[in-house]
Amino acid sequence: MAVNAFRTFPHRSPRRGMRRILPVLFSAVLLTGAAAGATDHTPGPVLSPGPRNVLLITLDTTRADHLSCYGSPVLTSPHIDGLAQRGVRFSRATAVIPLTGPGHATILTGLYPRDHGAIRNGVPMVREVPTLATILSSRGYRTAAFVSGWTLRRTLAGLDRGFDTFDDDMTDRYHMVNDQRMGDQTADHAIAWLKEHASEPFFLWIHLFDPHEPYTDHGLLLPANPTGLGDPPSREILRRYNQEIAFADRQVGRVLRALSTSDAAQETMIILTSDHGEAFGENGEKGHGRSLYQATQDVPFILVHPSLGQNRVSDLPVSTLDVTPTVLDLLDLLPITDSDGVALGQALQAPGSFAGRAIYQETFPGARKKFWRIFGPRLTGDPTLVAIRRGDWKAIFDPRRDRIEIYDLGSDPREQHDLSKEQTVRAARFRPLLAAHAERDWLPPSTETALSDADRERLESLGYVD
Ligand SMILES: [Zn+2]
Repeated sequence: MAVNAFRTFPHRSPRRGMRRILPVLFSAVLLTGAAAGATDHTPGPVLSPGPRNVLLITLDTTRADHLSCYGSPVLTSPHIDGLAQRGVRFSRATAVIPLTGPGHATILTGLYPRDHGAIRNGVPMVREVPTLATILSSRGYRTAAFVSGWTLRRTLAGLDRGFDTFDDDMTDRYHMVNDQRMGDQTADHAIAWLKEHASEPFFLWIHLFDPHEPYTDHGLLLPANPTGLGDPPSREILRRYNQEIAFADRQVGRVLRALSTSDAAQETMIILTSDHGEAFGENGEKGHGRSLYQATQDVPFILVHPSLGQNRVSDLPVSTLDVTPTVLDLLDLLPITDSDGVALGQALQAPGSFAGRAIYQETFPGARKKFWRIFGPRLTGDPTLVAIRRGDWKAIFDPRRDRIEIYDLGSDPREQHDLSKEQTVRAARFRPLLAAHAERDWLPPSTETALSDADRERLESLGYVD
């Protein structure tokens, strides 16, 4: 079987030396074959001298500033804080799209949404695009995913490819509908799997949905985050949101404890991040998906690997695009063709090359059915907004109105003062980049699948039909 084949390879061999630094691409990615499935990955030995296993934890809807290791005055995340002390915490990590399905497809491919095809929840990624799971599976890894939100069900997101186990069971009723699974159940399943497979080379992805709406009161004694809006309804919302994060943090702690007592304790690299953040009234938004302000784009990003040191904080501009390139590089495997992500292990060795990196963000209109009602049956790849972040500067562009906003995140991290009238030179520089990004081709799913009534009901209950 595949795992035995893997073990015939000398995965402890010396590293082959530094490969080229992954390019940071500012221009559009041509879709001729690249994102349609061309890949550099062929079966062969894993040569990395470091950990062979990969544990990826994604916390849905978790904005960085609500974790205590990212400066929250409320102790929401002691286990994640401890994880950060074991590796590198990236203080300036950004999502590229504030939506669950597309955001996770980006995490698992290193591609912008229009390059993997999933531009909205309910639109699955293109099946020919290689993912971290398909690549590691082809290398003989045991692969498993345990997801907790309906938007990541296999038929909706198309992320199940390459996983031997893809556990998207949400049969237990949660609130009014079974649109999600609580993190303790997800962790139970993942820990059981880990106990069975820790001695094999593995890729384990655990997705915890708890911080997503509706915010559940777990009875934990946590106050509202005083960095929030502060009016009475918001304080209760923020208190519950903090509880959800603390509840998810406990599950992370349980998984990490199980890993630490397993055969894989010293053999596993760990990545923790989020697909997007959450707005609590900033710039008039509540929730996520409709705008590109940093409330929904600032995410945690923690990387634990012995070659990178401990208790380290990096202010490199990183993004969810970087997860897959980073993992493949640390395993000494080639990156996915035309990925716009960066191998962070290499970037940490040459940070000057990446300080001026540009990261794009984008979002798209409506969930699928409503989109059809408004614009007809053909789903297009036209974004409602695109943004670019370079250093402390951020520009948000509405291509339909040809309107640009510019913010200096260094002095105005909450994006309260649009400087587009003063920063005319910068606006003139950013506008064509943003217009070009907005016009990138979309690689639509190869097979059209209409949402079932059950899927539509659950997407609506999660707030995705707008
Ligand atoms: Zn999400």
